[in-house]
Amino acid sequence: MSRPRLEGKVTIITGGASGIGEATARLFASQGALVIIADIQDELGRAVAASIGLDRCAYRHCDVRDEKQVEATVDFAVQTHGRLDVLFSNAGKMGPAGAFLEASLEEWDDIMAINARGVAATVKHAARAMVARKTRGSIVCTGSVVASRGGTRAAAYVASKHAVLGLVRAAAAELGEHGIRVNCVSPSAVATPLACALHGWSPSEVEEYGEALSRLKGVVLKASHIAEAVLFLASDESEYITGLDLVVDGGRTVVGQNAP
Ligand code: NAD
Repeated sequence: MSRPRLEGKVTIITGGASGIGEATARLFASQGALVIIADIQDELGRAVAASIGLDRCAYRHCDVRDEKQVEATVDFAVQTHGRLDVLFSNAGKMGPAGAFLEASLEEWDDIMAINARGVAATVKHAARAMVARKTRGSIVCTGSVVASRGGTRAAAYVASKHAVLGLVRAAAAELGEHGIRVNCVSPSAVATPLACALHGWSPSEVEEYGEALSRLKGVVLKASHIAEAVLFLASDESEYITGLDLVVDGGRTVVGQNAP
């Protein structure tokens, strides 16, 4: 039997209570990782951690908008397990879709605070912990295809994901000398609660019609497809890959489909 791909690795997953983060927490744990789910949905996060198994998974309340909570979450990982090997900085928000001319700048601030500043805070504190212990860690951030191709009726979200990609490239360039890798996984539409709300799909519709919905709406990925890409970048199998934007879109970009 082959060795688990993240055996003994200490990992933090922001936004791990739902969707892509939850699927990744389950996959990481199945590959031998110790997982800390960091989220603001406490009840859901605790339930996910319990269903994975409290010997392998813990839940921490962490609002990525608050740098102190981010720092405390990283400290918790280090105090509990002695180090941090992997950060999956994934917590994110999509605003209500709407024309830029009508955009609320308060909504813009909130999206930036989570998707851009929140990612910066998690990468900063995870990397500080890795540097302090000379850990050759891996950091993976969730971007989006909108960061490479743009998108309509979601200007703040599109801008925030450009910020994520820029941060990944800047951090990869600076942290390489410490043996820390920083990469981005950029999905197109994934059937998660967030995307279902935005596009008006009900989760049961996605569950029930699967393939048919894919044909109607274009490629709709599952959270597990993204988790597999994150696992590759988190594991030592990708040890020479850094600063990459790994697009996971079922081929939508190459065939020129731009929405959703
Ligand atoms: P989701 O809503 O299922 O999960 C997002 C999680 O982030 C939730 O558990 C939520 O509680 C958490 N979160 C939100 N704000 C937070 C905060 N301030 N602090 C800590 N946690 C917070 O959605 P998802 O689709 O799994 O989204 C995960 C990531 O994937 C996001 O960054 C999103 O932008 C990105 N993404 C999603 C899609 C898609 O179609 N679903 C496509 C491209 C990129």
